[in-house]
Amino acid sequence: MASTEFVIRPEARVPVVATTGVVVVGGGPAGVAAAVSAARNGAPTVLVERYPYLGGLASGGMVLVLDDMHNDTEISVRGLAMEIIERMHAKGLCVYPPEADRDPSIRATEALWRKWSRWGVFDFHTRTLPHPVIFAAAFDPDGFKQASLDMVREAGVGLRLHSWFESAIVEDGRVAGVIVRTKEGPQAVRAEVVIDATGDLDVAANAGAPFADGAFIVTTVSRIGGVDTDAAERFQFEEPERFAQIDRQAKRLIGGCWQYWWLKTPLPGVVWCNCPHMTGFDGMKVADLTAAEFEGRRRMQALLEYARENVPGFERAYFVDFAPQTGVRQTRLLEGEYVVTKRDVTSRVHFHDSVCRGRDYYTPYRALLPVGVDQLLVAGRHYSATPQAQKISREIPPCMAMGEATGIAAALALGGDIRVQEVEVRRIQERMRAQGADPGDRPAANALSTEAA
Ligand SMILES: Cc1cc2nc3c(=O)[nH]c(=O)nc-3n(C[C@H](O)[C@H](O)[C@H](O)COP(=O)(O)OP(=O)(O)OC[C@H]3O[C@@H](n4cnc5c(N)ncnc54)[C@H](O)[C@@H]3O)c2cc1C
Repeated sequence: MASTEFVIRPEARVPVVATTGVVVVGGGPAGVAAAVSAARNGAPTVLVERYPYLGGLASGGMVLVLDDMHNDTEISVRGLAMEIIERMHAKGLCVYPPEADRDPSIRATEALWRKWSRWGVFDFHTRTLPHPVIFAAAFDPDGFKQASLDMVREAGVGLRLHSWFESAIVEDGRVAGVIVRTKEGPQAVRAEVVIDATGDLDVAANAGAPFADGAFIVTTVSRIGGVDTDAAERFQFEEPERFAQIDRQAKRLIGGCWQYWWLKTPLPGVVWCNCPHMTGFDGMKVADLTAAEFEGRRRMQALLEYARENVPGFERAYFVDFAPQTGVRQTRLLEGEYVVTKRDVTSRVHFHDSVCRGRDYYTPYRALLPVGVDQLLVAGRHYSATPQAQKISREIPPCMAMGEATGIAAALALGGDIRVQEVEVRRIQERMRAQGADPGDRPAANALSTEAA
């Protein structure tokens, strides 16, 4: 409800705590990638994050499968997304199917489905059943936090945690830094280029860039421990009819979820519950986010009680934790120089200025550039797309790829003393390739071209 009562805040002198080349706001997957990429490309970089950890929804939101990075023929998102996967894998905190299990000639077999489906590493976009096993990675949230901290530290990024973005410093139509709210009071970080990676477009919206209001389902993600996953999987595959009946009832109790309500994690006996799907909650509103916490826990408690009684393997199950961050998938979306449409994503439209990719779609640089505000870039789930397009192009790896591309663009703008709009896309593409990422400059055989569309 909009308030009718107000207090007036007096003007304040805000201390400048850092002056830098690039400031990245938001230390989620897109922001970590943007900061690491900018710093590795030579830009003095500061990263500000409101919470005491990095990773955003991938750690605090406990979203535990990195997907949307593999299509029929290839792994299409590499670069920093692949680097973080390998770092977690080396610590035993990430699981993905080896190449042999992704062989197109055998991958749709029942045996592979049994082996891999409870890791969530299958292609849910296909209608084929069982779904083909593809490259995706199930990981541990603390593993993502640690790998992010390592990458940021090694790249020499100046990290400032516990700092809530409050407002953009805008001078003559150009963003010149940000003001954050901290326990010490407000602090200013001055910068030549700002990258908004808040997921909710906090910086661009505050700086006056046009945006649209989006919305999607909200989820209070949780993890359940004490599960005998072998017993649960045996039950699923050896008693399919009883399983289907019990599973239907479990899903009814939570009122909506994807195909599986639990998936395995790298921690033995601990499963990830990417549910329930809740509608009618606005991810920008305090009252809605508070109500979602009550509602999500109520539904999951009912599910756990039912599972203990009815699902083999769950007899001694208990909640390990609920994610500290509410699972908000979509809020404000940039209306940038180009707005990606659902057709662009589903028809694999190729753009001449593609700088990164998702599964089989391309992201143009223009979709990361706001209109009307200079020296600002946007990376992550709030990029310039229609609400329908964002729903199918917002997974963690593509968001990391956007971050990686904007980090390069910011460093190039800084190095050339030019506006971010003036950066030559060809140079972003070259650097993306040089650091092992795929900018999508070479369209796949099945891609449509924008010009022809
Ligand atoms: C329930 C759920 C399930 C999902 N399932 C999957 C899945 O299985 N696989 C997959 O790949 N993707 C999945 N996604 C999508 C994916 O998690 C997000 O789209 C992705 O994390 C977006 O990354 P981001 O960096 O753009 O934003 P976020 O992850 O939201 O990160 C934004 C960061 O900015 C920080 N921030 C925000 N506001 C401020 C501020 N004012 N000041 C300072 N810092 C701020 C946040 O704390 C956070 O660290 C899921 C999402 C949800 C919610």
